[in-house]
Amino acid sequence: MSETKKPDLIIVGSVGIDTIETPAAKRPNILGGSASYACASASFFCRPGMVGVVGTDFGKEYMEVFNSFHIDLEGLQIEEGETFRWSGVYEQNMDNRRTLSTDLNVFADFNPTLPETYKQCPFVFLANIAPALQHAVLDQIQKPRLVIADTMDLWIDISREELVSLIARVDILTINESESRHLTGLHNLIDAGQAMLRMGPTHIMLKKGEHGSMLFSEDGIFLLPAYPVSELHDPTGAGDTFAGGMAGYLAHLQSTDPSDIRKAMAYGSVLASFGVESFSLDRLGQITRIDIEERAESYVKMLRIA
Ligand code: AMP
Repeated sequence: MSETKKPDLIIVGSVGIDTIETPAAKRPNILGGSASYACASASFFCRPGMVGVVGTDFGKEYMEVFNSFHIDLEGLQIEEGETFRWSGVYEQNMDNRRTLSTDLNVFADFNPTLPETYKQCPFVFLANIAPALQHAVLDQIQKPRLVIADTMDLWIDISREELVSLIARVDILTINESESRHLTGLHNLIDAGQAMLRMGPTHIMLKKGEHGSMLFSEDGIFLLPAYPVSELHDPTGAGDTFAGGMAGYLAHLQSTDPSDIRKAMAYGSVLASFGVESFSLDRLGQITRIDIEERAESYVKMLRIA
């Protein structure tokens, strides 16, 4: 892919250094952040442009990883100070995770300024980051065709108003089960999905981890199981990998068609299933588009009921 091609998908989110402990292993100082996972995943289908910030301590080896995925880095700012850091530990079943520390560092004063080549990009993924930053990026993009956004519990707690006004501006909201209950106050997922549709998006993509995903729209509900994985090493970033793959597929097709959204979800599931087989972007760095197509084919076979 040409390095000078302008991005077909803009992704804003965190870029950071994680320390993660799962029942499989403990890995300190590994490349993480919602934008890192999402851009790497999208890069199998299109050229993503990363919007984020890192500190002057951000190692050259991490930049090389981004380059190996052909991510456009013109929108990645380098500021004096330390890079965002996060650490977490998983319980035995890998379903529950405890955050041990979050240090926003250079993200605390981040003021995203989009390069000119990003401003006309029709496809945008606002990966998990403070809703004020998601708004700031969206404000700079002229007439986007499709805006996808993700969020997390923290923002529902501390920036609810900004998050609700952001949700009204997006086409597809991706959110997990517990966050959707937290946001709407509704326990039943069908009620929660419908309540979120009334907040503005045409689609709600509900992520249920190893139990798959549910898409709510005016056409009703579409269900997808997760691709079953035996080598589960680290589920961190699975949601970002899922949504990044989905956004990348749609940007590649330049489509917002409902049937393409469903196919994009299936590719997102396949990408996420690879991502969790190792820590950080390690597994995504080993696979090719052919591996993705092969797994997609076996996934479709598993889904066939007649
Ligand atoms: P996920 O597993 O989808 O929650 O994504 C994990 C990634 O999100 C990790 O690589 C973290 O660096 C990043 N992360 C953790 N907390 C935050 C936060 N408050 N804002 C943005 N990104 C975060």
